[in-house]
Amino acid sequence: MTSNVSQNYPYTSESAEERAATIARLVSEREGLAATLATDSTPLDTNDRWWVWKCPTKDCPGLLHAAGYAAEKHALYVVCDGTCGKTFLR
Ligand SMILES: [Zn+2]
Repeated sequence: MTSNVSQNYPYTSESAEERAATIARLVSEREGLAATLATDSTPLDTNDRWWVWKCPTKDCPGLLHAAGYAAEKHALYVVCDGTCGKTFLR
């Protein structure tokens, strides 16, 4: 295991509108992200607020935003808005 495991605590939260806007922007900016989300995740429930995490990638200043639920796991599927552009499970 890596030291990234300790970074599972939420960093902040955002409103449902902020979350949706961020994910929509990331999907529009990143080729293939929409297809990845369609394949690997299922739509979120309706919530007023969503957690945001700091990206665990070294030197990446990004934050992780909820994009869906992992298709086969009980976890949130999150997308980094920073330079690494990775997706994670939370
Ligand atoms: Zn990142």
